[in-house]
Amino acid sequence: MTKTAKKKVGQKKDAKASLFQSVQGMADTVPADAALWRALRDAAETVSELHDFRRIETPVVEPLANIEAALGCAGPCDASLYLVKAKGQRLALRAESTVGTLRCYLEHHLGYVASPFKAWTETPLFRWTPQRLGRPHLTHEFAFSTIGDSDPVYDIETILVLFEFLREMKFKDLKLSVNTLGCRVCRQNYREKLKAYYQSRRQKLCRSCSSWCERNPWRLFSCENPACREARADAPIVLDYLCQNCNNHFKAVLELIEESGIIYEPNPYLLCDTDYYNRLAFEVTVPGFPGVLASGGRFDYLAEALHGRMIPAVGGAVRVETTIAALKALNIQPRVKEKPRVFFIAVGDQAKKVGVRLIGELRSSGIAVSEVFGKKSLKAQLKVAEKIESPLVLLVGQKEAFEGTVITRDMRTGAQETVVASSLIEEVRKRIK
Ligand SMILES: [Zn+2]
Ligand SMILES: [Zn+2]
Repeated sequence: MTKTAKKKVGQKKDAKASLFQSVQGMADTVPADAALWRALRDAAETVSELHDFRRIETPVVEPLANIEAALGCAGPCDASLYLVKAKGQRLALRAESTVGTLRCYLEHHLGYVASPFKAWTETPLFRWTPQRLGRPHLTHEFAFSTIGDSDPVYDIETILVLFEFLREMKFKDLKLSVNTLGCRVCRQNYREKLKAYYQSRRQKLCRSCSSWCERNPWRLFSCENPACREARADAPIVLDYLCQNCNNHFKAVLELIEESGIIYEPNPYLLCDTDYYNRLAFEVTVPGFPGVLASGGRFDYLAEALHGRMIPAVGGAVRVETTIAALKALNIQPRVKEKPRVFFIAVGDQAKKVGVRLIGELRSSGIAVSEVFGKKSLKAQLKVAEKIESPLVLLVGQKEAFEGTVITRDMRTGAQETVVASSLIEEVRKRIK
């Protein structure tokens, strides 16, 4: 084979292999994790109902103009966005949930439905980052937002919802780290002070920090370089620059957190460079796991950026992938509300017909049924029942089909009984309690 021919075959192979690979940085959810996803959804449903949050769904794409307005810039201002060109429209895949949620609130006048309006949503987020960072490009979150009220009581409720969510997942000893970003006025003063502080120490900073200290000085807080860490220790903190209103708001939030019994730690380095965020910023972690399970804050300026009118809002989200990783790392088994499940075996054509009818009746009455009717022999079907550890097997052969009976078999004890097919649902309920 010539070199070019070999190359062509190689290319063909590569193309074939890539047909079965997901987009880089985007993972599938497979049944192995399905129970954990289910537990997360159950937890989201439970806490949103208890706190009166209403479910909203927004499209996975938003007009790029909305995102540009929110970020206060035009053109490709955020390199991490996944841009979509469709029929002349400029769109972007959702990178965070706040813009879509607030756009939905404004478009449907949801402030008239309830004030404040509490919304929750389950959403995928798309963010591109350079491959060397090894970050996923697709993540998911359960986000909770309260729109239309600036009272600190909603700041603490956001924190509580996320804590209850994670406690529902059986996490213990959760830790809250909290800070304030101030408002437009006091944050600007603080930014100038911080900039001046770092500029005076520019020679000592790493190259990256030295280039960032002009544009975004709080980015320097996250640098791990020992010299930058040392500089951080004496850097001015936001608390010393808050205006009276921001100070009062933060004090009230902290008092409410103390009242709720949540253990918290003020973290002056928890800051955000997105302009529409203000005041509260927080993160939730769990001992023994390095990632952040949930985070959030106030975004009072977002409505103004989108709509020209300020509407206070606060929100937070549980990060699905990090939470699942933490559950696995800490070996936590969350509660999963599963339907009772039985395994149905039918041997013979007549038995299969009866089986299909009885399975329909069982499912209609809320009992989940598994089967492998495609496999003919009793042995093959029983093997599957054992593999999936089904606690109860229902069996119909030619004899049972003819007599109108079903054999029930408790797979844990091996006990078998014959019951009348017409009372099957009752008999199954008794056995799977
Ligand atoms: Zn302020
Ligand atoms: Zn640095």
